[in-house]
Amino acid sequence: MINISKPFFTLLCCGIIASCGKPPVGPPTVQPNLLMVTFDTLRADHLGAYGSEAGLTPNFDALAAQSVMFENAYAVSSTTGPSHLTMFSGLYPNEHGVLKNAVEVSDDVVTISEHLRDNGYNTAAFVSSYVLTAQFGLSQGFDEFDEDFNLKRRRSGSYTIEAASDWIAGQPNDKPWCVWVHLMDPHKPYVQPTEYLEPYITPDLIGNDLDKASYNGAVAYTDSVLPGLMAAISAQEASAGTLMAITADHGELFGEHGHFGHGRDLFEDAVRAPLLLKHLSLEPQRIDTTVGLVDFAPTILELLKMPPMQDISGISLALMIPDSTQRVSRPVFMQRRIFDEQGVKELFDETGVNVAGPQWAVIADGYKLTVAPEANEESLFNLAVDPGENNDLTVSDKDTLLKMRKVLSEILDSQTLRVRSTDLSPEVLQNLEQLGYAK
Ligand SMILES: [Zn+2]
Repeated sequence: MINISKPFFTLLCCGIIASCGKPPVGPPTVQPNLLMVTFDTLRADHLGAYGSEAGLTPNFDALAAQSVMFENAYAVSSTTGPSHLTMFSGLYPNEHGVLKNAVEVSDDVVTISEHLRDNGYNTAAFVSSYVLTAQFGLSQGFDEFDEDFNLKRRRSGSYTIEAASDWIAGQPNDKPWCVWVHLMDPHKPYVQPTEYLEPYITPDLIGNDLDKASYNGAVAYTDSVLPGLMAAISAQEASAGTLMAITADHGELFGEHGHFGHGRDLFEDAVRAPLLLKHLSLEPQRIDTTVGLVDFAPTILELLKMPPMQDISGISLALMIPDSTQRVSRPVFMQRRIFDEQGVKELFDETGVNVAGPQWAVIADGYKLTVAPEANEESLFNLAVDPGENNDLTVSDKDTLLKMRKVLSEILDSQTLRVRSTDLSPEVLQNLEQLGYAK
């Protein structure tokens, strides 16, 4: 269901250069640059702009005040690889075929970086985690792919920002660039400098309480590296400006619903993501429509006035940006990473969570249905009154349950695999195991 209440031609006049209702900023000499920032494992509710009162993110909050901010955005998965690929391809996991980490992206998948490179952009990526390294294919479309890690196969944000800033500084000002910066800092283990962790940690904290406190310090640290990136952009600003798209690949659980970490769940704290779009021609505003990050790439391309990507499931949300009363409202689909490709019927992770078979979720009209058929699990929540997902309505609201099952079923029926995925090599499996990832 797609409700679009303005004619399509309106889109043509509501692009990034000439936004409706106000004078254009002036004809650009080149296309706007594009900066995409993805924070790993960053819960939206830990950001001041999204309601946190902990004061962890003054830099993000300042950016949010100057941005179009989507208040209710959802990652497609709580796993890094599938979530990033959906953002960049506009395809759902069942369509791009990457259903867990470290699966090689097929050449058949077209990403936003490929699309922009083919349309005249210089492109570069600066990632901070082993699971996003070039060997797994998210490097496709980037002229430069920077993955200069330490022995633990991750790097802290300051180094990633430094590398990106150096590349940006070297760019000619007569050709637009596209940069992706991935920041790993909020992901365990929490290895930030002590001045960031100490304010939140006391000697009595252990286990999950220690993790929860340390996470605050990790979020504060990752926020602290943002000004360096902003300075690099300011120093090398094209006349058409830089479009910034800032989001996260998933969140993290600290005991909510008895679960921990990410990857195994589609609960709100695992999939709610921040989403900011900032450009000098975009009026800062907040948009409360529920949206999925499958729409990330098509929205960016429309704002850049680039041709759309073909044969994808994501749609542009740009219609809402000049006037947030215009809604692009449709169900938001999510899918847990796959654990048991061999069809094992009883499978539990180390915390006792049943992870057998697929798990899907859909949000529509304020309700959220989550289904894991092989684990025989189903839940229905009214997010408007129960955002903590505590009051399951599967028994008490059969009418809504049947409607939501139909919505989910129609989405799943519409998804077909466009490509083939590749099996992991023994060496990659060993690396992932050492890093603490489930096989
Ligand atoms: Zn991640």
